[in-house]
Amino acid sequence: MHVARTVPDLRRAVTALPRPLALVPTMGALHAGHVALVDEARRRAATCCTSIFVNPLQFGPNEDLARYPRDEAGDLARLDAAGCDLVWMPSVDTMYPPGAVTTVEVGGPTEGFEGAARPGHFRGVATVVLKLLHQAGPDVALFGEKDWQQLQVVRRMAADLDLPVEIAGVPTVREPDGLALSSRNRFLSPAERAAAPRLFAVLRSVAARIAGGEAVADALRFGRDALRDAGLAPDYLDLVDAETMRPQREWRSPARLVAAARLGTVRLLDNVPVP
Ligand code: AMP
Repeated sequence: MHVARTVPDLRRAVTALPRPLALVPTMGALHAGHVALVDEARRRAATCCTSIFVNPLQFGPNEDLARYPRDEAGDLARLDAAGCDLVWMPSVDTMYPPGAVTTVEVGGPTEGFEGAARPGHFRGVATVVLKLLHQAGPDVALFGEKDWQQLQVVRRMAADLDLPVEIAGVPTVREPDGLALSSRNRFLSPAERAAAPRLFAVLRSVAARIAGGEAVADALRFGRDALRDAGLAPDYLDLVDAETMRPQREWRSPARLVAAARLGTVRLLDNVPVP
């Protein structure tokens, strides 16, 4: 497994490796959810490149950039064991050299939800993902369904900018009790960790209510109350068009139920389909 830290070294390595090439963008602190993306990359392509870059541009001034977990040695061991061929680990200065002022602004699916809760977040995501795609030039790039809105934003950007790459989503990997794996779960206290699986449980029961014909507004009210009863503070729990992220007042396919809830200092994100 080769580790590249400069763009010329990355390009040399990519040129020497067989196509098709799959890219898995990550911010490190890798867990089994990230490994599922690498596994899917290896199923789809001859070469898997994983990027590790904690992107300052997607963190707000009051967010957790400084405490974001970092574990370079552990990440490289995990990727090697998973059969990853190439790791792209640029420094902040390599990604954003002094003087860089160009960013990517995606409309549509960035509005609302994470876009509203975290101003500038998706500008940072779109900018770094476009740069990673240009730097590595993959045939396919894989993103987790865990960050559903991010997946729709990246799909929209790739379509709007005619990027010659397939954007593929990978289902969310969960703990046995249903909690979606996340690098931030380590900041949950034991009591918070015990309450955290309620987010997925509530999403599933709200989805079942809507699928069973209950009025969307009633099912959502039930869900928000159920989250509060479990000690989670919902930022949002909403039914949206699965692609445009526009809220749905009545169920229409394709629909997704998306939620963010605060538990102590951690913001948990999750989503489920509503078939
Ligand atoms: P991150 O390192 O948190 O930026 O995540 C990198 C990629 O891994 C993103 O595409 C995430 O959606 C994806 N990811 C994070 N957690 C999970 C999970 N539990 N299951 C599947 N994919 C995930």
